[in-house]
Amino acid sequence: MALVKPTPPGECPQCWQHAYDKSIHRKLKPRQDCPACVDHMHNGCPNRVPKKQSIWR
Ligand SMILES: [Zn+2]
Ligand SMILES: [Zn+2]
Repeated sequence: MALVKPTPPGECPQCWQHAYDKSIHRKLKPRQDCPACVDHMHNGCPNRVPKKQSIWR
């Protein structure tokens, strides 16, 4: 559907999606916090896209 930019390295796919796909938050009630975003805000993002792999591994 909406064109979502691919998650850049070092970014969290979820937060990225939520930032760009406003329809995700549109489901929330006004002033309701997005649980997924709140969770990441408090606990950090557990699944960021890894940065470019080093050739040195
Ligand atoms: Zn969200
Ligand atoms: Zn996140």
